[in-house]
Amino acid sequence: MPATVGELNPSPRILMGPGPSDVHPRVLRAMTTPLLGHLDPEFLGVMNETQEMLRQVFQTRNQLTFPVSGTGSAGMETCVVNLIEPGDRMVVCVNGVFGQRMVDVAQRAGAEVTVLERPWGTVFELDQIRDALSRVRPKVLGIVHAETSTGAWQPMDGLGKLCHEFNTLLLVDTVTSLGGVPVEVDKWEADAVYSGTQKCLSCPPGLSPVTFSPRAVEAINRRKNKVQSWYLDMGMVQRYWGEERFYHHTAPITMVYALREALRIVTEEGLPPRFARHALNHQALKAGLTAMNLPYFTTEGCQLPQLNAIRIPDGVDDLAVRKRLLSEFGIEIGGGLGEFKGKIWRIGLMGHGSRPQNVFLVLAALEKCLADCGAAVKPGAGVGAAEKVYTQAGGKG
Ligand SMILES: *Cc1c(COP(=O)(O)O)cnc(C)c1O
Repeated sequence: MPATVGELNPSPRILMGPGPSDVHPRVLRAMTTPLLGHLDPEFLGVMNETQEMLRQVFQTRNQLTFPVSGTGSAGMETCVVNLIEPGDRMVVCVNGVFGQRMVDVAQRAGAEVTVLERPWGTVFELDQIRDALSRVRPKVLGIVHAETSTGAWQPMDGLGKLCHEFNTLLLVDTVTSLGGVPVEVDKWEADAVYSGTQKCLSCPPGLSPVTFSPRAVEAINRRKNKVQSWYLDMGMVQRYWGEERFYHHTAPITMVYALREALRIVTEEGLPPRFARHALNHQALKAGLTAMNLPYFTTEGCQLPQLNAIRIPDGVDDLAVRKRLLSEFGIEIGGGLGEFKGKIWRIGLMGHGSRPQNVFLVLAALEKCLADCGAAVKPGAGVGAAEKVYTQAGGKG
């Protein structure tokens, strides 16, 4: 080890995996802005603006909406520990890694967890959930809207209503969906929803936007026991992010600047155009991958536009191809998790990263790396098929 460590100089990368995704240059600039004190009247304005934009992006009027100081998993833990008291029943829908994580978090919080399972790459249907709710009568049902480990997009229609029929609170993971596909907290009648900054908001990791419905707030107020986590206790954090601005912990100022700028970008673009952009780039990528004989892993009809999970062709070495993509093109894509390690790749088209340039780049680079690793690929097939999608959509490519 040298006496002094060199200046930080990371290689240029194009982050097209399951997150973190590439940060928008405007967000990076906002992060170089000098600090305000975290109780400075001007910073309070920044907090208010951030909360107001979060409500817009979550499509909610929930008063209790703010970013938790921590990554997406901290948001998951915040929702769970505030709603759950030891011995409470909770049903968790598991069709991938993040549902599994929610089970672990809930059990650690003392919940009596019932696991509802579906194969990875598929989604849940209302009937299966209704059956579990009537059997278990849980306080909380937890479900992942965008399962990043599989690319599955869970439909939310009717789920909130169904949960409330059974007096159950609906907890939803929107870490990978917020800013990429519609997240309609009020329309869904969701009660506790958390997200993350480093997926479709194109911000670095570090904050977890959360929102709680009035029904969830009531449930928290009725608790018999203190929330087991001091740091994530909504009641206390709320006094800091709410009217009182009562000191609880020091907000990560720079990350709040970053999130504020990221949300400004989202609201400038507008939600419908933003979702349409994600959908179009997904269609182009999908056409290209299909033309290259790389079929989707996720069931047709529930494929997320921002997370494209495809099957690795037989005989192709997962790591060899991903290493080449990284060293020759600076492109990062994700491998499979758990039992799908070595079997699938996950290509992210998230937020700022969802653009034609990245679609063409990853298709061309993948073609080259697959060929170098001995796979049979028809030259130009992927790029050509993607081009066709853009042309048909009105020359946006
Ligand atoms: C990334 C992710 C998380 C965890 O977020 P971290 O920021 O890594 O803590 C949780 N749920 C889903 C669906 C995710 O994609």
